Amino acid sequence: MSFPIFADLSYLVAAALFIFGLKRLQSPATARTGNLMAAIGMLIAIVVTLLDRDVVSYEMILVGVVVGSLIGAISARAVQMTAMPQMVAIFNGFGGGASALVAMAEFYRLAGEGVEISIASGISIMVGTLIGAVTFSGSMIAFGKLQGLVTAAPVTYPLQKTFNSLLLVTMLAMAVYLIAFEPNLNVFLAFLGVGLLLGVLSVVPIGGADMPVVISLLNSYSGLAAAAAGFVIDNRVLIISGSLVGAAGLILTRIMCVAMNRSLANVLFGAFGTGEPAAASVGVGDTDATVRDVTAEDAAMVLAYARSVIFVPGYGMAVAQAQHAVRELADVLKSRGVDVRFAIHPVAGRMPGHMNVLLAEANVPYDELFAMDEINHAFESTTVAIVIGANDVVNPAARNDTSSPIYGMPILNADQAENILILKRSLRPGFAGIDNQLFYNAKTMMLFGDAKDSVTKLITESKAA
Ligand code: NDP
Repeated sequence: MSFPIFADLSYLVAAALFIFGLKRLQSPATARTGNLMAAIGMLIAIVVTLLDRDVVSYEMILVGVVVGSLIGAISARAVQMTAMPQMVAIFNGFGGGASALVAMAEFYRLAGEGVEISIASGISIMVGTLIGAVTFSGSMIAFGKLQGLVTAAPVTYPLQKTFNSLLLVTMLAMAVYLIAFEPNLNVFLAFLGVGLLLGVLSVVPIGGADMPVVISLLNSYSGLAAAAAGFVIDNRVLIISGSLVGAAGLILTRIMCVAMNRSLANVLFGAFGTGEPAAASVGVGDTDATVRDVTAEDAAMVLAYARSVIFVPGYGMAVAQAQHAVRELADVLKSRGVDVRFAIHPVAGRMPGHMNVLLAEANVPYDELFAMDEINHAFESTTVAIVIGANDVVNPAARNDTSSPIYGMPILNADQAENILILKRSLRPGFAGIDNQLFYNAKTMMLFGDAKDSVTKLITESKAA
């Protein structure tokens, strides 16, 4: 078999592994093998590409692999679970940047050799550079907002959208000039510069708390940039994997928008959410409403008589790193014959699958985790709903307050349980910055404190009861 045929067949195998790997990511039970399949696909693609092309020396490739793997392994180990979106943002940015560099290198090579750039490769180079540059600078701003290096508040000014549209039109004009008239290096550098500026200006008006959606969208862009780079260097597996990332990122962006009941346009241009808790709205309008503040001992008494319990984890569980303690409490309850389940809202936490990852880390069995649609009917026949650091995802305002910013967002029916136990530090709101009527529900018991401390106390009290 000739090498090109072998290479094409290997790329086909790699692409099939990517697709089956992605399919297996659908469920936590198969996700590990899915990840492994996709990684093997990537390994095959890399090895075949290295054999196929003598682009740089093997020593250089080895140095790149070692340095890259070290940075990846150290950052993945060191990063806090709550800082995962930042890490994804920065990695996306590098992906986009790498694709832009590939496209730029090809432009410099062709322009330097004075070769006429065909329309097809010209378009691939311009698309790769544009999307890569926007993804790179946009992701860096997203990282900065989440890390607190750049203001998380939406930065808006008059004619913002018009100005951004003008930048895009300018880039298109420059691309036409570069392809149709002259591959001028200075114009190309200006094209790149405007692309970087467009990335920054597209992300600054978006509130810090909406960054996960933006990161998912940028992830999709980085896939498209990679696919464009695939066309530039005529590499099929890069085209396929880039398209898969592009499509997957777009689907995820849509899922997140639907779960928050917001349109993508509202996320991108709505200047919603500052990333800071809106403390000012605490309890506003509820001066008459009373909150039932309980001790861990009181709460353990209620749990002692429970037949069934549904845990509703949210962002606060991640902040408190309470997942291991929660698993232990679930074990204590199960040992007493209590039916224990976990209800997972699609946007609980700050990134898709946030709660699943934390609970999997604490070895909560997958068959105890239920998606919102699977479990919502079960709350009304449940003795206690234990809400751990979740807020917006159980806020009944989403159902019955048409003026609420989260009106229409599907929520977990924790309010329908016979008893509701909420573990959080205060009455402060969550991501959406709005008060939660559930705190004032007559069936609700508030156990104030850090979620991990409160759960630990509940375990002690439950064992003693
Ligand atoms: P929320 O942001 O609504 O609420 C989290 C609550 O956790 C806060 O009210 C806070 O209250 C509490 N908390 C914080 N730290 C602790 C701690 N150490 N111990 C106990 N409690 C703590 O979280 P939800 O998970 O309910 O909702 C997620 C929100 O994020 C939704 O509005 C969703 O739209 C949004 N979002 C989610 C994305 C995703 O992909 N998952 C992406 C983008 C946005 P207190 O300060 O009183 O303790």
